[in-house]
Amino acid sequence: MSRLRFKVVEEAFKKRPIPAATPNERPSRYYAKYVFNHEKMRKYLPLEAYQRYCATLDSGTPLDLPTADLIAQGMKQWAIEMGATHCTHWFQPLTEGTAEKHDAFVEHDGKGGMIEELSGKLLVQQEPDASSFPNGGIRSTFEARGYSAWDPASPVFLIGDTLMIPTVFISYTGEALDYKAPLKKSLAAVNKAALEVCQYFYDDVRKVQTNLGWEQEYFLVDEGLYAARPDLLLTGRTLMGHDSAKNQQMDDHYFGAIPERVAEFMKDLEIQALELGIPCKTRHNEVAPNQFELAPIYEECNLAVDHNMLLVSLMRNVARKHGFRCLLHEKPFAGINGSGKHNNWSLTTDTGIILHAPGKTPEENLRFLTFVVETLMAVYRHNGLFKASIVSATNEHRLGGNEAPPAIISSFLGKQLSEFLDKVEHSTADERFYLAGKQGMRLDIPEIPEIMVDNTDRNRTSPFAFTGNRFEFRAIGSSANCASAMIVLNTAVAEALTDFKRRVDALIRSGRDKMSALLEILRDDIRTSRPVHFDGNGYSAEWRAEAERRGLDCETSCPIIFDRYLDPESIRMFEQMNVMRSDELRARNEIKWETYFKKVQIESRVLGDLCMNHIIPVATRYQTVLLDNVSKIQAAFPAEQAARLSAYNITLIEKINKHTDFIVNAVEDMVETRKTVNKMEDIRELAIAYHDRVAPFLTSIRKHIDKLELIVEDEMWTLPKYRELLFIR
Ligand code: ADP
Ligand code: MG
Repeated sequence: MSRLRFKVVEEAFKKRPIPAATPNERPSRYYAKYVFNHEKMRKYLPLEAYQRYCATLDSGTPLDLPTADLIAQGMKQWAIEMGATHCTHWFQPLTEGTAEKHDAFVEHDGKGGMIEELSGKLLVQQEPDASSFPNGGIRSTFEARGYSAWDPASPVFLIGDTLMIPTVFISYTGEALDYKAPLKKSLAAVNKAALEVCQYFYDDVRKVQTNLGWEQEYFLVDEGLYAARPDLLLTGRTLMGHDSAKNQQMDDHYFGAIPERVAEFMKDLEIQALELGIPCKTRHNEVAPNQFELAPIYEECNLAVDHNMLLVSLMRNVARKHGFRCLLHEKPFAGINGSGKHNNWSLTTDTGIILHAPGKTPEENLRFLTFVVETLMAVYRHNGLFKASIVSATNEHRLGGNEAPPAIISSFLGKQLSEFLDKVEHSTADERFYLAGKQGMRLDIPEIPEIMVDNTDRNRTSPFAFTGNRFEFRAIGSSANCASAMIVLNTAVAEALTDFKRRVDALIRSGRDKMSALLEILRDDIRTSRPVHFDGNGYSAEWRAEAERRGLDCETSCPIIFDRYLDPESIRMFEQMNVMRSDELRARNEIKWETYFKKVQIESRVLGDLCMNHIIPVATRYQTVLLDNVSKIQAAFPAEQAARLSAYNITLIEKINKHTDFIVNAVEDMVETRKTVNKMEDIRELAIAYHDRVAPFLTSIRKHIDKLELIVEDEMWTLPKYRELLFIR
């Protein structure tokens, strides 16, 4: 092992003092300590302001300025009592992560001094000044300054000395520049459509809520080792590294105990997350070494998305405190599993019914069937768009490999639900249904679901699986904002439910009774959505061929998959559901293509540098050692004997030559290719060129580096190897 590398590794594995996780209290004591939630609002706001705030939440109407002022006063008082000095609007731009701009609470008091100030105006949406409307194309709109406004459905919270205000971020012309604004619109759309469909089954439902329970996977690596890997540092993943002889084949990490240092990190993270109102529930090791998962209890979707973004930034900070780096990249290491973020999704009513869960009465089961089938319809109609909502330059490395999930979006339903759907589909149109409790029960709807609640038959290869009372969208990347997938899912389900209602109502108007109208449309939709229903092995080659026959989207190129956002049926859906306009979709796609090509570009540059500054010099140095040895052998022995004695080293010298030659030439070609494609002006073409022409170099060059890693003497290799990176001690 090289001395430099040895020092780094030794330092990393030295027993470090483990920072103690703070409170030793029960979580119920400190839960949401740093959140200005309802409990604090009741304490800090005048009753009337609090009531008006609640009414705003119920009706979804904007907050009026006088109320906003009162809320701001209360917030400020609480924050200052808690030691805050600054506040920031906290938003979710289309790049990754979150953005913030901090302002101190201070204002001139007009008498030469300062006072602490937070105005209602700062909280609520301000009318944009007409004179600053940018004109011109979409790009200039996007480059123009946007404004942010508090989302009253997301409570403000404290991080250190700063009051964080979750906001939407929009341009002066009203286009969403973030994830939150369209997410909220998609939630409004699905809630409205679902509420209308609920009226077929219940009289008392007034509101439908969308739930999201995410499961966040991540890797930890030791900070010292991380710092010695420029590829990890700059791109979030290893661009090279031969498989460790032992990795995940024994499954011992998955079932193993959590290492002590990691356990302390998790404990600290959970406490801090709970203090911020994130209801952490589950933690465990994942399949790959050094891979872990954290999942909270599910929450309302908008809040759950905020909480995920918050948790992820918390994770990064807490990890550093414990001497780790948290890797959120979807595929930090080749050859072992990558990380995802399963999104468990369902709808519930304000009366406490999970619409995707089976019930006890026949009517309830018809409702269950309706919501399940219309969700499948959404996946069927917008199959490519679902994939577009989850692909990225980083998630692309995970999709389509021999691990969850495949790059084709299908839905696993399990044996019981599948049989149930078959039964409904094949019942005849004019068959009269006598549901449970009545005579002639031909379709024993109520029996099936009760078993299904405890449905344990799982299929880990399915990207969109029904799991008893919800769908689990598993294809989301670990670094993604959940909102991207949730916007598409919510909007597509809203469209499916709206269309369902239109067709059922038409039948009812023509004189059919409600039950038979519902069943007839459901029968049609079960049949129509059949192509997305797949319970088999999603990794198999047969499935790919079968999926193509079924007409599912099998495209694997990320920049081309983005096109699905601009398909006429996608634009129509987003516009009709009032979620996004076509110019917004176009503008957002430009950002997607730009992000894509930049990521590949950075990786390609980093790899080029590493090849020329690390790999080639190290390999050449080792080759010189071998050459030296060969020439000394030749000097010491007669020719024939020398040839025999140096044969092995000569083979190695030749091998090294083969690999270094390849690398040097490929790096040169890669740089030339970048120069050529960089001239392209169309951002989509540029992204496609990076995908088709630049990215393949990353794979081919890596292969040769990894071979060199096996040949070159361990002592000389400067970069920490997988076996060192992957096993926390
Ligand atoms: P798994 O077995 O896949 O790990 P868990 O039971 O741990 O699943 O739950 C995963 C996530 O799903 C959790 O966040 C949980 O709160 C959430 N969840 C459970 N029921 C629902 C539901 N009806 N709707 C949305 N999320 C749910
Ligand atoms: Mg799960």
